[in-house]
Amino acid sequence: MGLKEHVARLFHSCAIVHLPLRWNEGQISEAIRETVRENEHEACYIRPLVYRGYGALGVHPGDNPVEVAIATFPWDGHFAADGLTKGIDVGVSSWRRMAPDTHAAMAKCAGNYANSLLIVAEAREHGYQDGIALDVNGYVCEGSGQNIFLYDDGRLLTPPLGGSILGGYTRRCILQLANDLGIPVAEQLVAREQLYTSEEVFLCGTAAEVMPVKSVDKRKVGSGGRGPVTEKIQKRFFATLRGDLEDRHHWLTPV
Ligand code: PMP
Repeated sequence: MGLKEHVARLFHSCAIVHLPLRWNEGQISEAIRETVRENEHEACYIRPLVYRGYGALGVHPGDNPVEVAIATFPWDGHFAADGLTKGIDVGVSSWRRMAPDTHAAMAKCAGNYANSLLIVAEAREHGYQDGIALDVNGYVCEGSGQNIFLYDDGRLLTPPLGGSILGGYTRRCILQLANDLGIPVAEQLVAREQLYTSEEVFLCGTAAEVMPVKSVDKRKVGSGGRGPVTEKIQKRFFATLRGDLEDRHHWLTPV
């Protein structure tokens, strides 16, 4: 997904959490491109942050101005470098994702990240690189900051949008790539047990990219490494991002 779609989703998140922006999508896109140019990055992570500025105190922001800060960071991966080829170890968290009518899970808002912090901190204490959160009903939801895919019996599975997940940009890209590669995909409820029985599991996100999972709760996933379907999707993902393959879906934006 290109910058245009990323910015459109930023506006969706802002609309959900009462943050009306003073700029339009084109202006925010241009400001992001300018920040990347000014910082002279080759590969970077872009973090636009929309927040309420100075004014009233209290939970309701009143008329406090809505501000935007755009930060870009040099980027060479979120997990250890060999994670992409060898996979990472994860554990199911004792912290659940919020129920659908509590926080707005679909908004990428800072408040939701208190939940993510609890999930990843617990996972690290237990010796895992990250944690998998179940939803309020005990179905598989997502990672602390990644969506999740399982491959089993010839199909790719991922939890549905209505299941308290943050519907990530990378998840959308994976759905598209799977379609391009002719891999059947189902967006459906996933039971915890399927994490233990699937042939492959991977996480995906802007920071995590396409990250194979080699074990869940110390149980090997498949043969305990990156599976062939994950590898195929991963390779296509990176080849498109690096410009080695035709950008069929207009995911790239010149800066
Ligand atoms: N779920 C959560 C909870 C996240 O924080 C993120 C990353 N922002 C994702 C999924 C993946 O989203 P994206 O692919 O847009 O980075």
